[in-house]
Amino acid sequence: MQAALQQITILGATGSIGVSTLDVIARHPERYRVFALSADRRWQLLATQCLMHKPRYAVLNDPAAAIELERELRRQGSTTEVLQGADALAAIASDGQVDTVMAAIVGAVGLLPTLAAVKAGKKVLLANKEALVMAGGLFTRAVVGHGAVLLPIDSEHNAIFQCLPNHRPDYLAEGLTSSGVRKILLTASGGPFRNTPIADLAKVTPEQACAHPNWSMGQKISVDSATMLNKGLELIEACWLFNTRPQQVQVVIHPQSVIHSMVEYIDGSVLAQLGNPDMRTPIAHALAWPERIESGVSSLDLIATARLDFSAPDYERFPCLRLAQQAAEVSGTAPAILNAANECAVAAFLNRKIRFDQIAIVIDHVLSRLPVIEPHSLAQVQSADAEARAMAQQLIASW
Ligand code: NAD
Ligand code: MG
Repeated sequence: MQAALQQITILGATGSIGVSTLDVIARHPERYRVFALSADRRWQLLATQCLMHKPRYAVLNDPAAAIELERELRRQGSTTEVLQGADALAAIASDGQVDTVMAAIVGAVGLLPTLAAVKAGKKVLLANKEALVMAGGLFTRAVVGHGAVLLPIDSEHNAIFQCLPNHRPDYLAEGLTSSGVRKILLTASGGPFRNTPIADLAKVTPEQACAHPNWSMGQKISVDSATMLNKGLELIEACWLFNTRPQQVQVVIHPQSVIHSMVEYIDGSVLAQLGNPDMRTPIAHALAWPERIESGVSSLDLIATARLDFSAPDYERFPCLRLAQQAAEVSGTAPAILNAANECAVAAFLNRKIRFDQIAIVIDHVLSRLPVIEPHSLAQVQSADAEARAMAQQLIASW
């Protein structure tokens, strides 16, 4: 039987995940239509994507870039309508004609449009982990309350999802222990500085931090992988996605990035998902779930891989991981504070205003000073986020 045509909105179409999503979609024109594409300001790439995928709408965050896109698309005879701003982003995420929303904006700015998709009961493919880290309780309650389907794109969480029984997306409501799961083994490559002498970390450049050994990704997540704050965000993400506690999630360094994560059951069975490190696999998995489609990813050559290594994380080298684990245990607004302080610190590092090793200092400073509450509204999460940014900026400016 032919699968029904799915209308898709991509939030963050010009980024690493957005481009990989369009690559998978283009392989299956009989299954997927692009309803809307969005980006921050890269109108030239968005114009090329619009001409190829012919969406009904294209949304840019930057007003000047929206004018350029409009001019270019009219010149090329495209009928795609150009919109601009936050309301337009929420509108393309929640439009009645949309079936599936790929949430691939980077950072806290992705929260509102992703929540708009959730509240409209869409199938939401979640790459934007920061949204869940910031507002996990409100977010997951909205998923259950509005009947949305939340599928993980982060390779580790997609792997865990594939290793869970019956591949059911209802762990949110039931929790993992009821499924006989003892723990989750969250794998991490260790990033580009796994073996760099710790004393040299003060000198590393943004270019070195962004040169991930196994994955090609956007700049912010690449720096997060180098500090391993990314794994901390993923620990928090796993707790919300699979309704589990931080103590049930063990971080394991696995430099080859071939095993994307594992699930251990109470009978001693450990299930793993393996594959080449290419985000088109989890994207294709979530797009077609519960079916399977071609993704364009080459076969995993285990003979060429030859060996798989595992070790424990080194907290002296990766203080950000410890800070994120602490925020996960405190919960409430602590993860939102951690995330906001990190976003400011990473931007400052990428702009060469602070050193790599100062990222952890900024996060620690903010996390240890701001009060944590249990948020009951989005406004409370946003206020914790704003306070954390203000405090982080103040410290950065003082250096
Ligand atoms: P990226 O920097 O390559 O792309 C980010 C996208 O967000 C771009 O399209 C950009 O235009 C858009 N954007 C940025 N600011 C915006 C704003 N203010 N308003 C509207 N749009 C805005 O990032 P990426 O690597 O594709 O990562 C996207 C998300 O997916 C992140 O949350 C990241 O943690 C997560 N993720 C990425 C990977 C990966 O392999 N790249 C893997 C797992 C999870
Ligand atoms: Mg990941």
